[in-house]
Amino acid sequence: MQSIVIVGGGVAGLELATRLGRRLGARHRERVILIDSAPTHFWKPLLHAVAAGTIDPADHMIDYARQAIDNHFTFVCGEVVHVDRACRTLTVRSRFDDAPDAHTVIDYERLVLAYGSVTNFFGIPGAQEHCLALDSVKGAEAFRQRFLGLCAQAGRRRNARTDAGAPLLDIVIVGAGPTGIELAADLRHTVDTLAHYGLAGLESPHQVHIRIVERGPQVLPSLDAEASNLAVRKLRAMGIEICTDTAIAEVREDEVTTMDGRVFPAAITVWAAGVKGPRFSAGLNVALNRNDQVVVDSRLRSVTDPEIHAMGDCCTLLNPDKTAMAPPSAQAARQQAIYLATLLAHKAPDVLPGFQYRDYGTLVSLGRAGAVGILRRAIGNRHLHVKGPFALAMYGLTYQRHVMGHLGLVRMCGNLLARWFRSKMLMPVRWH
Ligand SMILES: Cc1cc2nc3c(=O)[nH]c(=O)nc-3n(C[C@H](O)[C@H](O)[C@H](O)COP(=O)(O)OP(=O)(O)OC[C@H]3O[C@@H](n4cnc5c(N)ncnc54)[C@H](O)[C@@H]3O)c2cc1C
Repeated sequence: MQSIVIVGGGVAGLELATRLGRRLGARHRERVILIDSAPTHFWKPLLHAVAAGTIDPADHMIDYARQAIDNHFTFVCGEVVHVDRACRTLTVRSRFDDAPDAHTVIDYERLVLAYGSVTNFFGIPGAQEHCLALDSVKGAEAFRQRFLGLCAQAGRRRNARTDAGAPLLDIVIVGAGPTGIELAADLRHTVDTLAHYGLAGLESPHQVHIRIVERGPQVLPSLDAEASNLAVRKLRAMGIEICTDTAIAEVREDEVTTMDGRVFPAAITVWAAGVKGPRFSAGLNVALNRNDQVVVDSRLRSVTDPEIHAMGDCCTLLNPDKTAMAPPSAQAARQQAIYLATLLAHKAPDVLPGFQYRDYGTLVSLGRAGAVGILRRAIGNRHLHVKGPFALAMYGLTYQRHVMGHLGLVRMCGNLLARWFRSKMLMPVRWH
């Protein structure tokens, strides 16, 4: 087998490196190289919980170096800054060495791109400058700190206010997909907890107003109308305002303007309304779609260069109507990684069929209000709606399956137990 270099150790990259390493064994450790700009892996679907302070990211990190030793692959910590397709080399900037020439050049025979996505602001004026985005642990932590700081400032100002019932802090979340909805629900939980303990300057949960603004007609468009309506009812019961059919025209430092002329105050605006490939994609000189994602064929090969594969959020697989065949989701990223692990290790890959995405459904956490979701083809061809604590338990299981896949059952259970004990000693939210 040729040597394989994987750029990005997210949901897709870590899954592929782990599966290939296990399949090839310790003797071929140097044939599978995983490169990531961070030393530890964090499961991106939990970022909303980091932003709301309901989890500590340090409790959920998987150390790449340890994974590499345990699963027989090589890990390089650094940012890939250049790909030379003619020479088949990558330039990697060291994570730990600040010197301007601290670059390493790595040869590849097969390259797998799995470097994820960044927030797509769709060129809306002011959005990039004034919105916070949940692209990384750093971004989610920045949100949490800004939120707590603004709560404290609002608390100081509250005595000077005459309109006692008015909110002291307005948060606007743009986008009613799973990211926006889960963030809103977790933030409500955080605000309730802070107010309950009289922390961060909050006396009542009503002092923070959360508004979700969605361009389309439906909240959670990946669900059907029944599940979506249930989510809306639960969110409204939590005091979260939802504005559908509302497109944003402009974002300013402290307010957003909608296309129909409404102005919403916003001390914090979070953009959770779409993703695109990072700027790095443009330097590859391979075919990209209009969202800067690498266009791949059904074997997840770049349509420009068959030696380059791409998977996860950084790629798009188009059907004959030129619409994407798999959404940018952890579910699709994992399925693509499993497919590529089989393809790349296969002696005769040409006999294998192309990648087919299978939608098993969607589960969305509403924090303490449980979860809502739909399990597709759960009973024969029929879909199953799930809600409440049962759905929340299933939602939790998808993450635990990810952890177990990498750490094994014993370490996964140990981790779970350790977090449970810690939760008995600490505040339910990280308020400092
Ligand atoms: C808040 C939030 C909630 C979500 N909830 C869900 C959900 O409930 N269900 C679901 O299915 N999906 C969800 N998603 C989407 C899901 O997280 C992504 O689709 C998935 O993580 C994509 O996996 P990936 O491997 O393509 O990229 P990522 O998981 O983003 O990993 C990319 C990796 O590449 C590394 N990297 C980037 N550039 C470079 C470079 N130049 N050099 C080296 N390394 C690099 C990064 O450090 C990162 O580790 C959510 C996303 C967010 C942000």
